[in-house]
Amino acid sequence: MKRFILFGAPGSGKGTMGERIQRDFGFARIATGDILRAEIERGSAEGRQARAHMDSGGLVPDELVIEMVRRRLQAGDLDGGYVMDGYPRTLRQAEALSQVPCDGEKAVFIEVDEEQAVGRLLSRLTCRECGAIYNRANKPPLRPGICDVCGGAVEPRRDDNEQSVRERFRVYAERTLPVIEYYHRLGVLARIDGNGPAGPVYERLRGLIA
Ligand code: ADP
Ligand code: ZN
Repeated sequence: MKRFILFGAPGSGKGTMGERIQRDFGFARIATGDILRAEIERGSAEGRQARAHMDSGGLVPDELVIEMVRRRLQAGDLDGGYVMDGYPRTLRQAEALSQVPCDGEKAVFIEVDEEQAVGRLLSRLTCRECGAIYNRANKPPLRPGICDVCGGAVEPRRDDNEQSVRERFRVYAERTLPVIEYYHRLGVLARIDGNGPAGPVYERLRGLIA
């Protein structure tokens, strides 16, 4: 099975691109942020442990995330390939993932200007139920506050506020840039320009998968 890893700063569009890849290529999508938010909604012990870290913009502890991904990778839906969004984010997570065999691994670094990424995050709205992504400015849900896909509540994510966004960028630079460098050294990393509207960014990305 093929493994495709999306890297990029918060607000770089990993989630949007991952959803499109899932839709067009039939890949399973593993987004650790979504899995963690689902745990919080369910009120599980893991969700309770993760919540404060996520709200402040810090990382959830490696052991918890690595174990969660290990379980997810045991599900039977990965044979057609899978795309990872938001994992690995630390060198320890990358190390853990490297123990999971696959027949072809590619990583893509979606590069965006920080200004643009922050702007996107602060105008972003997401569905609490299914994680669908909207934007106050150019892609609001058809009915205000209600998800087009599932009818769930659409609102700003709890961590899409200035303070948490600033911390997410800091942590990204400190912990995740070295992971991107690690995949670069492995020789499996491509870079694409993630600035501008999603359509053209996705066209650039598609070319790397097909
Ligand atoms: P973004 O990329 O915009 O920060 P995500 O939904 O990917 O959004 O992640 C939201 C939060 O979930 C992160 O700020 C972090 O607290 C937590 N998280 C997600 N993935 C990981 C991971 N691989 N390791 C540790 N924490 C994670
Ligand atoms: Zn929804």
